[in-house]
Amino acid sequence: MRRGVLMVISGPAGAGKGTLAELLLARDGGFVFSVSATTRLPRATELDGVHYHFLTEEQFGAVERAGEFLETAMVHGHRYGTLFKPVMQMLDEGRDLLLDIDTQGAMSVMSKLAECVTVFILPPSFAELERRLRSRNTENEADIQRRLHNARGEIEQVSRYRYALINETVEEAYQTLTAIVAAERQNTVRYRPNIL
Ligand code: 5GP
Repeated sequence: MRRGVLMVISGPAGAGKGTLAELLLARDGGFVFSVSATTRLPRATELDGVHYHFLTEEQFGAVERAGEFLETAMVHGHRYGTLFKPVMQMLDEGRDLLLDIDTQGAMSVMSKLAECVTVFILPPSFAELERRLRSRNTENEADIQRRLHNARGEIEQVSRYRYALINETVEEAYQTLTAIVAAERQNTVRYRPNIL
């Protein structure tokens, strides 16, 4: 048995990271999604405990003080955090785990769990990023502006990641992502063939 792959994906809002994550979870039976905690309000389609654990500021603070977060970050004005225990449990059980977290969170995970596989998802251009962000229709204008502004700062962090991937078309990007997954599953960091 091998240890699970801890895959961290980041990228600016509108890069298509969410779609790639959904495809990976739907098509690759080995992956589970790490459900983060956030103080952001749920969107119309989001379910508590499935997309996020939606917490109040007070609840989030209590979890933080109890030392239960692997990492936390303030993103677009809200708090987000990855719970430590489920991550370690999944990896120990040999399940592959997908973390969709921002660049600050990814840096923290890299410093604590060096074997993590980090992938940065890029849009083909800033113009395309803006178009995708607007077509989602989930944020108001102020949020869109904030996310576009933050995107530039996030993209500067790309070289800190092990892999970068331009999401021109979802299918192509997905094929590349699965190649990364296939290679990393064979990485001797987590897998030692045992031949007798
Ligand atoms: P959204 O509000 O659009 O779901 O997510 C906003 C940003 O927060 C995304 O870049 C997403 O990757 C990031 N994010 C989601 N969960 C976490 C988390 O647990 N930790 C960190 N650091 N970032 C997160």
